[in-house]
Formats: sequence, C-alpha cells, structure tokens
Amino acid sequence: MSYHPASVIPIIKPSMGEPETRAASRPILSGWVTQGPEVAAFEKEFAAWAGAKYACAVSSCTAALHLALLAVGVRPGDEVITVSHTFIATANSICYSGAHPIFVDIEPGSFNLNPDLLEEAITEKTRAVLCVHQMGMPCRLETILETAKRHSLPVIEDAACAVGSQILWKGEWQKIGRPHGDIACFSFHPRKVITTGDGGMITTSNPEWDRKFRIWRHNGMEIPDELRHRSQEVIFESYPEIGFNYRMTDIQAAVGREQLKRLDGIVKRRRVLADRYRKLLSSNSDIKTPEEPSWARSNWQSYCVRLSADLDQKQVMQLMLDQKVATRRGIMCVHREPAYRQAGWRPRENGALRESEQAQEHSILLPLYPEMTESDQDYVVEVLKQACEAVQA
Ligand SMILES: *Cc1c(COP(=O)(O)O)cnc(C)c1O
Repeated sequence: MSYHPASVIPIIKPSMGEPETRAASRPILSGWVTQGPEVAAFEKEFAAWAGAKYACAVSSCTAALHLALLAVGVRPGDEVITVSHTFIATANSICYSGAHPIFVDIEPGSFNLNPDLLEEAITEKTRAVLCVHQMGMPCRLETILETAKRHSLPVIEDAACAVGSQILWKGEWQKIGRPHGDIACFSFHPRKVITTGDGGMITTSNPEWDRKFRIWRHNGMEIPDELRHRSQEVIFESYPEIGFNYRMTDIQAAVGREQLKRLDGIVKRRRVLADRYRKLLSSNSDIKTPEEPSWARSNWQSYCVRLSADLDQKQVMQLMLDQKVATRRGIMCVHREPAYRQAGWRPRENGALRESEQAQEHSILLPLYPEMTESDQDYVVEVLKQACEAVQA
C-alpha cells in the first residue's frame, strides 16, 4: 500500500470551526448563557428546517425521550415496545418513566425494528411504541404507524442518529422529524451528524405537549425565563408539576445554529462517501454492505458492514486498528447488558432477538466523516479486505 495515514483514521470527526467558535462567544459576552435567546432561535430554526410545528431544545436525546414518553402518558407499570438493538439510552429512558421496555427483533437488512413482529408484542399493558431510526436509516414508519393506530398507541421516533435523513412520504421526500409519528427526538452528541457537545431536540405537532416539555425541562416552572426577563412588571413564578433540569445552554444553542447551517452539506458528503464504500466493497463476498430501501435516504450516521459469520469480528477490528483504522462493533443489544439482565429482563421466548444478536456479533462500523478524503477511504477499504483475508487464513 502506498498511502499511509499520519494518524489513526477515526470513526467520526465533528465538522466544526471558526463559525462555531464565534457563535459560542456570543452568549458568553452577552452574559445570558442558558435557556435564553439563542435557545429560542435554535428551536425556531430547527423547526423550520425540519418542517415541524414545534421544536423544544433539551440537554440530550435521552432527556428528550424521557419527556416524550411522559407526554404520551407512559406511567409506572406500563409497557413500551422498542428494540434491544440500540444504544442503551433508548431503553433507559423507558425505565426512567417507570415503564418496562419490551424488545422486538430487527430486520437484518436495515438493522431496524421488524414491523411484522409488532402486533404480537402488544398487550393490554402496552402504552407506546418507541421506534428507532438506527444509524440514521429510517425505519418502516408507515407499517409501524398503521399497526400502532389500529391499537390506538402513540409512536415516538428515536431519531437520535437521524438528523438530515429523509423518507418518501405520500410521494414526497420529507425530513425525519416533522414528525411522522407523534413525537421525534434528536441528539447532538459528537457521535451524531451535527453536535452541540451534548444536546437534544423534541419535535411535535401537538401544542399541549410542546408546552409541557418547556415546563418539565425547567424544573416544572410555569413561566419561562425569557418572559420574566422581558417583563416590565414583577412576576412570581409557580411550579404546577415536578419537573427536571433538562435545559440546553445558550452556548450549546449558538453552536447548534451554526451546525444547522452546515447540515445539508454534511449529509450530502456523507451520502457520497457511503455510496463509494458500497461500490468499493461490492465485489467482496466476506463483506455485506448496508441496504438503503427506495423510500429512504439515510444520513449514514454510521456505516455498518456485516462480516461473514466465520470471520472473528474482534480480530478483524484489531488488525485494522494495528493499521491505524478505528472501527466499532455492531450496535449493542440492551437485553445482554448486566443492567437489564439483573433487572430480570428476558426475551419472551428463546431466540426471539436472534437477528439483533447476530447483528451485534457480526457487523462493524467503518470510519465516515465529511473531511475524510478518498485516499483515506480507499485505505480503510484496503485494510478491511486485508484483515478479512488474514483472519480467514
Ligand atoms: C445517541 C443515542 C441516544 C442518546 O442520545 P444522547 O443525546 O447522548 O442522550 C439515544 N438513542 C439512540 C439510538 C442513540 O444513538
């Protein structure tokens, strides 16, 4: 190989720079550093960008999911249907509300909830469906919504990874997060496509829920800081409900506004690189590239390839790291983690989550970020192919 990277090729690298630095200094110099005008502007701009009626900024997507579950009426003892094949925060948010996660298996091609398994998971205790657009790939929302509607169940979209992904909806391409379900939740963690350090956003068309999100994120206080700040008269606040501290800071929001301006360009570049991966890996029988259905446009938050079952995943990853290419193993299975095993969580029947487990054991995530050069990418592909051959030998 003639090309050698100067340092390890990372799995992701945030696209930030001078504009974000300048934006972050705005609230610092103004003295209003949390839940202020930058947050309000970020919410407005995000809603307009997504085509959503309301957008409420919070401290993380985990916080967003918690509030979404509370808004649709999830209470202790209820069941919420979701996937095990997800970041643990999806399931944790269900536990925060006192409800139990009910895990259904995924489709091997899309790594997303298999809608054919949804109906049989519904019981009289089911209160909501929490579906995930895993790694940015839209899940089969139309079928999920159809089934949920038949049982009068609200649908929350865990869109943590899916900012900038699109779905073909009634003949028109629409952004994930309008939302198509009842509520959608986004993450701005650095591992996602745009970042505010940490941060989250909740979109909905329901004004009552949006009002509640704003009270809950602010320890249950009824009067927003902004209103009290602007008022010429003395106002005493009240606390109608117990809330949380899920506020986003103005420093985060100022950075988020700059990130939002970059988003379309970031997604465009990620899609070009993902398509290049597909072509470069298409002839290799040991490596299966992910599928994008005709009705979905992924932001490719993660590029996940499946290795043939006889290849040792960890060995392949180690050989790649030895050659300065960082990878991650396939998405975790929440039901296999001690926290959930100790809580007594078990699949309803043996093998019920087989596809989820297989995906975790046999897939790896490859580096993908806008600044990645074609030479970097060619190098990753070469190193991956060599590692597969070496492990097989
Ligand atoms: C990252 C992630 C979350 C959590 O997002 P935070 O902003 O870190 O709280 C939730 N669900 C999924 C699917 C994720 O990938």
